[in-house]
Formats: sequence, C-alpha cells, structure tokens
Amino acid sequence: MALFQIAEPGESAAPHQHRLAVGIDLGTTNSLVATVRSGMSVVLNDEKGRSLLPSVVRYAADGTIDTGYSAQKQQAIDPKNTIVSVKRFMGRGRRDIAHVETLPYDFVVNENAAEGMVRLKTVQGIKSPVEVSAEILKTLRLRAEASLGGELTGAVVTVPAYFDDAQRQATKDAARLSGLNVLRLLNEPTAAAIAYGLDNGSEGIYAVFDLGGGTFDVSILRLAKGIFEVLATGGDSALGGDDFDHRVFCWIIQQAKLNPLSPGDARLLQVRAREAKEYLSQHSEAQITVKLGSGEYVDVTLSTEVFAEITRTLVDKTLAATRKALRDAKLAVDEVKGVVMVGGSTRIPQVQHAVSELFHQEPLNNLDPDKVVALGAAIQANLLAGNRTADEDWLLLDVIPLSLGLETMGGLVEKLIPRNSTLPIAKAQEFTTFKDGQTAMAIHVVQGERELVSDCRSLAHFELRGFPPMVAGAARIRVSFQVDADGLLSVTAREQTSGVEARVEVKPSYGLRDEEITVMLKDGYSHAADDASRRALREAQVEAQRLIEAVQAALKTDSALLSDGERQAIDQALTQLQTSLIADERKRIDSAMTALSQATNEFAARRMNASVQRALTGRKVSDVT
Ligand code: ADP
Ligand code: MG
Repeated sequence: MALFQIAEPGESAAPHQHRLAVGIDLGTTNSLVATVRSGMSVVLNDEKGRSLLPSVVRYAADGTIDTGYSAQKQQAIDPKNTIVSVKRFMGRGRRDIAHVETLPYDFVVNENAAEGMVRLKTVQGIKSPVEVSAEILKTLRLRAEASLGGELTGAVVTVPAYFDDAQRQATKDAARLSGLNVLRLLNEPTAAAIAYGLDNGSEGIYAVFDLGGGTFDVSILRLAKGIFEVLATGGDSALGGDDFDHRVFCWIIQQAKLNPLSPGDARLLQVRAREAKEYLSQHSEAQITVKLGSGEYVDVTLSTEVFAEITRTLVDKTLAATRKALRDAKLAVDEVKGVVMVGGSTRIPQVQHAVSELFHQEPLNNLDPDKVVALGAAIQANLLAGNRTADEDWLLLDVIPLSLGLETMGGLVEKLIPRNSTLPIAKAQEFTTFKDGQTAMAIHVVQGERELVSDCRSLAHFELRGFPPMVAGAARIRVSFQVDADGLLSVTAREQTSGVEARVEVKPSYGLRDEEITVMLKDGYSHAADDASRRALREAQVEAQRLIEAVQAALKTDSALLSDGERQAIDQALTQLQTSLIADERKRIDSAMTALSQATNEFAARRMNASVQRALTGRKVSDVT
C-alpha cells in the first residue's frame, strides 16, 4: 500500500531544471565525452586540457587501474596487462577474433570458449571486455561530473553501425557497470550526421565515411531540416587505422630484417608504426629509429609513396564498401550532396584523395573528425534527457502505448505520463507523506489507463528510505519519470529537503530490470565456468524472447511492408527460434537468433523509413524543406 498523498495541484510545479546529460564516443582507439552547454555541443577535456582519452586500460601489479595516456605509455613495457582496442572483443567469442595471433594477451580458454565472450588474463585476475570498457567509461563519467559539477542524468553511448546485438548489449552493460545511466546506444555515423545536420543545417543526400582506429562505417543518409533518414549502411567492423599501423609494422620488420619479436618489442614497434603513419599525414617522409629490448636497432625511412603502396588495398576496401552502400541505397555518386569525414584515419591524405575522387567532390571537414561523433551523441543525449525546446522534436518517432503512473492512497493511479506522449519524455511531480514521523515511502510504478491500481499492470516497486521524520505533509518528495527513445522507463524519487534519493529502471518489454542484468553480469564474474554458461543460456533465452516479441509486434503493425515470400521467411525463422527456446541449448538459440535477425534486417530498414515518413506526414512541406 502506498503511504503518500498527492500535493495540492499548483504547489507541485517545480521550475524546469537542466539535466546533465553527455554523449560518449566509446572508440576502439580513442574515447571522448561531450555535452550540450548553452545550446552548444562541446567536448569535455581532462584536467590537462586533452579531449581524447586513449581507449587503453592498464591493470598494474600493485592493484591500481590506469586509463588513457598514462596507461598507453606503459603498453610497451607491460603489454599483457595493458589492454588496447578492447572494443574489438566486445560481445565477441574466441573464434570471432581472426587476428588473435598478433595480440599479446593471455586469452582465457575453457571448454566453452567457442561460446561466451573472450576474457583476458591480467595480473589483477581475469577481466572481461565489458569490465575493461567500463573502466574507460568510468574515467569519462568522472571527467564529465567534475567538469559539469553534478551527477549525470544519463548518457548516449555510440556504437558502430555494424555492431550486432551481443556487441550492443556488452556496450550497454559496460556503461551500466561504469555507473552511467544509458539513455540510448546510437550508431556512430548517425551521431556524426546529427552533429552536421543541426550545426550546419545541411540538406540532401549525404555519405558518412568513418574510418577510425578499428572499424570502418559508411552510411548513406538523407538529411532534411530537422529530420534525417538512413538509406543504407555498410563497412567493415575489422578495418581501421590499426590495420594501417600493422602494414607499416610488417614493412619495418621486413626492411630491418628483424628476428621474432618479444611482446614488448612488438608493441613498441606498433607504436612507432602508428607515429610514423600520423606523421606522414603532414610530411612526405617519416624516419623510424628504435632501439629494441633485444638490443637490435631499427633505422628506416618511410615515404608517402611507399606508405600509399603498402596500404592501397586497405583504402580500396573502404571504397568498395562505400560503392556497395551506394548501390544498396540505389544512388549514383553524383546524387550525393556531401561526404562527411569521421574518424582520425580520414586525416590520411591518400584516404581524403580516394574519397574525393570517388565522389567527384571535396569531402566535408569543418567539424573535427575525431570529435564529431561525440558532439552528435551529446546533442541526442540532451534531447533524451528532456532538455529540449519546441523546435527540437525531430527525433521523436515513437509514442508511449499506455499511460505511466504511480499508486496513490486508496489504490488509485496518478498518471504522470499520459499515453500517446511522444518519446523521449521526462515528467516530475511532487508528493508528500501521509503520517507524522514517516521516514520511508513505498513507490509503486504502474502502467495502464484504468483508475484503480488493481486494473493496471504493475511495473516496479521501490522504496525511498532514510529521510528525516517530519509532520505529515511536510516532506516534499519529487518523483521523476523518464522514458527514453527506446521506451525504457526510469523513475527517481528524491526527498527535496534532505536530498535522499532512490531510483529504479523499468524495462517493460524485457521483463528484466537493468539492476538484475548488472547483478547477473557481476555474478558471472565471481562464479565458476558452468555458472557462466548457465547464465549465458538464460541471457540468450531472455534475449530471444525479447527478439520474438519485438518481431511479433513489428509484424502486427507493419506487415504490409513485406512481400508474401519475405513474410514466410520471417515466420519460419520465428518458429525456429520459438522451438529452440524449448531445447535449452545455447548454440541452437544463438543460430536461430542470427537467422531471425538476418531474415528481418531488410524489414527493420523499411520500418525505419516508414517511421520517418510518418514523422513527416502531417507536417507542412515548408517545415521540412
Ligand atoms: P576510433 O573511432 O576507432 O577510436 P579515432 O577516430 O579516434 O578512432 O581514430 C583513431 C585512428 O586515427 C588511429 O588509428 C590513429 O592512428 C588515426 N589518426 C589520428 N590522427 C591521424 C593523422 N594525423 N594521420 C593519420 N591517422 C591518424
Ligand atoms: Mg570513432
């Protein structure tokens, strides 16, 4: 039973408060955090004024954990405990990692290695990529809190467009472990488009060419005032600046006729290879002189011509993927109005040149290619946190199907967010205590249209405890509801005079709360391997169930977008996944999920287009052109 009353109407109105929200580009090589400040998206620097945080984590023997530049400095002397490019392992199994021989880490192998995520043995114990990434995110969270002077409401974290469900889930889990409230995962090219679309008012067809350290993404977008539409995506999740480094690294070994290298020497040479590559973006040749731990000397000179030669096939790969994305979008190169360059590797002149040749135009560079993703993510985070103005509602493609509210005295429902509100949305209301000396309050979150709690669906119970005793009606408890663009609800309750706070995240469609997933994740680390595989099975089942429900819901509303044959293929894959759930076999569930995802890929793309169309209808042409 609820123990509070509703404050008098009018008294509950609290002034609009700016919620601290950030966008995070969790890159393979570099990560950044940005926020919207006085209407401008800005990257937040560390205490030394540096914006990039190298995505490097070092687990030192003395128990300390280092991230960023200081960790990066240690990579040559402590390669096994200094984890770089961990993003490549996110949500990946051993067999997904083709380039494993070139990495100095001790991968943990168990009988089920083909299944769960790879793990790394460090001096501080076995670490999963999720934990390693959480360290990077934690550093950025602390940086943001320090520079914004408060706790964050939430964050938008970006992922490559190519990330599959496991990789996205792993990213979300890492963010949660780091203490961030994930407002949404956002595709990196989309974030870049948001940054350009809003800042420059660009319109027409645009290609986003993102060549970072570990991934290549190309996206074809249609931008209009306030609205963008993804026409096609493509790329390669295992192609980036690291591969250019590797070509240079191999070239050095060949030139200097080196003997097999120790892990430390290999890492040192990789660092030098990267430095030479970056130097060549500004100069015509780079000299590489290194004294290796083995006592051998390296002294070679790399020219831009040779560099272009040894990396030509990598550049060609990016062009081939770009052409394919254009074909998928059924567009010719000259229909593309602009090319947005994203990622540090787009600074390579040869890449710039190749892209401008392909598109017959100079690519756009007026935003910093390293920062553009974080800047766009910050804009999105600002919207999702509810800091939006009337003219910024262009990302809101969805509505909430049922009202969300709280149980009040007498088992009645007080609706905070009415049905059909566009997402994302945030609403707050003040409540007060019912009894003298009350120090705790039970909060019951419900969803539904009926007046009585018993007729609505119960979503979550939580308690706000430990506020000072006051006379009935004196406490001011502000309950905030926030629904993100994925339809996920989080509720915060705060007693205003004492500052005591409690929050709960509700995942209506999932059946599992974020906290539970986090606990499951943590449990997995401390339990034996068989526990881990049981957990993985349960997670797979939950994930599968979620996918089934999502596909069913999509079919219900949008089956008109499908041909008979396509519908049949999806139905077949659905049935296959449903039967795999009964079998209790992880592998079967996984492959059935992959099959269903593949069968619905095109469907998802069409629904996205359709929803953009819906968002457009009802607007005057003058609004969107
Ligand atoms: P990610 O998104 O994968 O974290 P970034 O966008 O930060 O990557 O790009 C990192 C890559 O950009 C690295 O491979 C780095 O060597 C490369 N890079 C940065 N600056 C330059 C430069 N001036 N010339 C060539 N490559 C560069
Ligand atoms: Mg990037």
